[in-house]
Amino acid sequence: MKRERLKQLATNRIKKGYPALESGDFLRPEALEEGAFVELIGDNGSFVGIGYIGEENRTAGWVLTTQQETIDTAFFTRILTEAKHLRQALYVDTQTTAFRVFNGEGDGIGGITIDYYNGYYVLSLYNKGIYRFRNELLSAVFEAFDDAEGIYEKNNFPGNTAKSRLIHGTEAPTPHIVMENGIQYATYLNDGWMTGIFLDQRHVRAAIMNQYGIGKRVLNLFSYTGAFSVSAAMGGAIKTVNIDVANRSKELTAEQFEINGLNPDDHEIRVIDVASYLDYAKKHALTFDLIVIDPPTFARSKKGVWRVEDDYEQVIANSLAVLAEDGILIASTNAWMLSADSFYQMIQAGCDQAQHQVEVLETYGLPEDFPTNLHYPDSQYLKVVVLKNIT
Ligand code: SAH
Repeated sequence: MKRERLKQLATNRIKKGYPALESGDFLRPEALEEGAFVELIGDNGSFVGIGYIGEENRTAGWVLTTQQETIDTAFFTRILTEAKHLRQALYVDTQTTAFRVFNGEGDGIGGITIDYYNGYYVLSLYNKGIYRFRNELLSAVFEAFDDAEGIYEKNNFPGNTAKSRLIHGTEAPTPHIVMENGIQYATYLNDGWMTGIFLDQRHVRAAIMNQYGIGKRVLNLFSYTGAFSVSAAMGGAIKTVNIDVANRSKELTAEQFEINGLNPDDHEIRVIDVASYLDYAKKHALTFDLIVIDPPTFARSKKGVWRVEDDYEQVIANSLAVLAEDGILIASTNAWMLSADSFYQMIQAGCDQAQHQVEVLETYGLPEDFPTNLHYPDSQYLKVVVLKNIT
C-alpha cells in the first residue's frame, strides 16, 4: 500500500474523525491513483489511518479506518453487519419494509449506500475508485445481507457503463411493492438511478398522513410518483393535485393510488411545469390547504433549467399566492451545497416577495437510518421546513 503524507490541517481533522479526503490534503496530490488504498501519514510522519481514493463531487476519497488494520472482505463484512444490526427495529417493523441499511460515511464507508426494499437490496456506488476493491466489497455485501432475494448495483458517477443491474439472486417483480408506515409503494428496482420512492422522506410522509393532510386539499409540486400525495390521501386528504413535468409521473402516480385501493380519478395528475401550473392556479383563484414543494437540485426540461439556488424563492412566492388562510406549506430540499441558513433565507425572500407572513411549525432532517458523521455536517443534505400561513 502506498504511503501518502498529509498536510497538518488535514492530519488534525482526520485524527478527530473527519471522513473525507480532499486532494489538497496531500503533499503529493498528483500521486493519488483512483481506487488505490493509501496509508495516510501525518505531518509528523506517524500513521493516521487508511483511506481509498475515489473522486466524487466534493471529495478525492474517503477514510476507511484510523486503526492499523487490514482492509479486506472481513473488514467490510464487519462494518456492514454493524450497520445492519443498528436497523433491527426497522427490520422487525411489519409496517415498514423499505429503508436505508448503509449510509456511506455515516456508517463507516464513504461512497456507498445500501437500501433495503422488502427482501431485495440496492447497492449504490458513487465513485469509480470502488471498482478496484469491488470484489472484496461484494463478498462482504453477500455475506452481511445473506437474507437477500436479489441485489442490484447502481453506479452514479460519470463514465459508468451500467447504471443499474442485478448482481445477485433473482430479479424483483415489476413493480416491487414495499410498505412504509402501512402504506404501499410501487418501486422499480432496476430502472435507472431512481426507484420510485425517496426513502429519506419517511418521517415527512408520516407527518403528512397522520397530521398535515387530514381533510385537506393538497398540492404536490415536483410530485414524481406522488408519494407525498398517497400518504396524504391515505391519511384522509380530500383531494391531491400532482404536478410534474415528466410524462412517466402520470402512470406511476396513478399506480401508487391504485395499489392502496384509492381511485386515481379522485385526484389530479398533471404533466406540466411547476411555474406554469402555479400561474394557472393563481389566474383561476384556486387555493390549497397543504402545499408540498420537494424539487430536484437541478433539472432540465422543455421549459428550461430548474436550479434550486435560482428558482426556489419564486416557487415559494407563487405557492403562497395559492395557499389557503391557515394553510400549511412544506418546503424541502436535498441540495447538499445549500446550507439550512441559505435555504431559510430563500424561503424568507419568497415570503417577502409575496408579502406573506409564515410561522415555522417544525423542521425535519434525515431519518435515523440515514446517520451522518458528526464531523462532516455536509452530509446532512435533507432540509424540510413546515410553515404555516399566518396572513
Ligand atoms: N417530491 C418527489 C421527488 C421529486 S424528484 C417525491 O416525493 O417522490 C424531482 C421531480 O421533479 C422529477 O420527477 C422531475 O420530473 C420533476 N421536475 C423537474 N423540473 C420540473 C419542473 N420545472 N416542473 C415540474 N416538475 C419538474
